[in-house]
Amino acid sequence: MSQPDFPFDNSYARLPEHFFARLEPTAVARPRLIRVNEGLAQDLHLDAAALRSPEGVAVLAGNCVPAGAEPLAMAYAGFQFGNWVPQLGDGRAILLGEIVGRDGVRRDVQLKGAGRTPFSRRGDGRAGVGPVLREYVVSEAMARLGVPTTRALAAVTTGEQIAREEMLPGAVLARVARSHIRVGTFQFFAGRGDTDALRALADHVIVRHDPAAAESDQPTLALFRGVLERQAALVAQWQLLGFIHGVMNTDNCSIAGETIDYGPCAFMDTYHPETVYSSIDHAGRYAYCNQPSIAHWNLASLAQALLPLFVEQAAGDEDTAVERAKAELERFPGCFDAAYDDGMRRKLGLAEARPDDPVLAADLLECMAANEADFTLTFRNLCDAQTERGLLPDAFDPWLTRWRARIASEDCTAADRRDRMRATNPLYIPRNHLVEEVIQAGMAGGETGDFEPFAQLVEVLERPYEEQPGRERYATPPEPGQIVHQTFCGT
Ligand code: AMP
Ligand code: MG
Repeated sequence: MSQPDFPFDNSYARLPEHFFARLEPTAVARPRLIRVNEGLAQDLHLDAAALRSPEGVAVLAGNCVPAGAEPLAMAYAGFQFGNWVPQLGDGRAILLGEIVGRDGVRRDVQLKGAGRTPFSRRGDGRAGVGPVLREYVVSEAMARLGVPTTRALAAVTTGEQIAREEMLPGAVLARVARSHIRVGTFQFFAGRGDTDALRALADHVIVRHDPAAAESDQPTLALFRGVLERQAALVAQWQLLGFIHGVMNTDNCSIAGETIDYGPCAFMDTYHPETVYSSIDHAGRYAYCNQPSIAHWNLASLAQALLPLFVEQAAGDEDTAVERAKAELERFPGCFDAAYDDGMRRKLGLAEARPDDPVLAADLLECMAANEADFTLTFRNLCDAQTERGLLPDAFDPWLTRWRARIASEDCTAADRRDRMRATNPLYIPRNHLVEEVIQAGMAGGETGDFEPFAQLVEVLERPYEEQPGRERYATPPEPGQIVHQTFCGT
């Protein structure tokens, strides 16, 4: 079979040369396929069979650059745990190019773990098979849960070992995103006082993500509004699923509004608002309950970076520009609450909005925390608790009485309500102990690894809302000995 055909059309590569470093991936010793995401390949006009062929695997491993690719590492900066880092950039990722998919949406195809770049600092430019499997499983699960996210097109092992605390098998993830532009990309240029670059980047983003902003008399403010609304909606979805990102640095905050950079991320099992998994997040900055305010903080950083353009679009009047930006920024809590309250109403099976609904929802969460209830299963079991408590503990009775009175005031059959609730409260999520289990299998047996458990988990998570007989263990919270207490960055 010949090389797979990638219908690339690369817009980022047409931006000024100091936006990136052009370079090719570094070849690896013995690439082997772990998995190709067939549906996503089709959506991108790619032939999955060609990707699985030796020529395709060579492309996915970075050993061969396909025709039409214009490989590059993107420059960006960022606030990491609140500290300014003027230069980060793709240190282990190389953008091959962009493809306009069957849905008309332009997407990046990037190889993560593709070797050193000028932005690698002290890193080796590589990724381990563990973080690659984790990102594949969790990002694809997020997509099926309806959350905007980067996707996993394929994963391969490299046949090379990488040095971390121990030697680990290396891997490369082919990642797909609406774009890899981050808040930190704007900050990179703002930090250098390069207003021409800021303008060029904003224009690029408007064409790509916020075309309506082009019609505005203040396009950058309209662009900012778009980013803010996407982030508010995104983080609301995380909260509604019990998802903890783990490293909400501004360089991991996507302008397209996708969940990006699955490092020490995790879905909560037992609900507690202050849950933190990341081994490096000692102060709990990125705890579950802090995610909305951190997103708001990241957007304030973006507004700061965009200020020179806001000033230009306020005829040079800085006070007016700052006032306008502040007014936009202040919309965040309202946008977040609207998305969160709406989603929570759906989780509770409520069709109409009533003023007391947020209190009802907050009281449920309080009851869950007090009883160390499983986040996902509590909502799932609630679908069947309209008349009887079912699998919920009896401590929920007082709350259930209030909820039943509330649902009784709406005209809807119990069966309809249950079906609606089941379509929004998943049964299967990528629980940490399951992810850990498939990673351990993948790492065992050296180069060949056992990727069958990984494949099975990916397949279960393709239908998160549907009961899958025989797959009960995938819905079960961890036994005490299986609980994962900490997660680690993919570095
Ligand atoms: P992350 O924590 O994965 O978002 O990465 C933060 C920064 O470190 C980014 O600039 C990455 O490109 C860079 N980085 C992470 N891991 C590596 C690695 N193994 N080699 C080179 N750069 C890396
Ligand atoms: Mg990152």
